Amino acid sequence: MIKLSSIHQNHLVLNCRCEHVGHISVQDLIEVYGGDVDVDAIERAARCSKFKGKSISSVQIIYVGGSFEAMHTSHTPKDSKDW
Ligand SMILES: [Zn+2]
Repeated sequence: MIKLSSIHQNHLVLNCRCEHVGHISVQDLIEVYGGDVDVDAIERAARCSKFKGKSISSVQIIYVGGSFEAMHTSHTPKDSKDW
């Protein structure tokens, strides 16, 4: 179990069964859910923005590095909390 507070500098990538991929900064999640929530709970709570279903197949924790911005422009709006 990984608490959000322990990975607050990272981002989460959520892979949906419909092949949609979303990502969000852990800091944003902490603001919504608090730092005591673990990554598994986020996986269970996450909804796909395509069909509003809870169908996340896997979650990856990523470090925000130089390549992140390139990824960022291709998907969800920056302030979206609904992926
Ligand atoms: Zn989906």
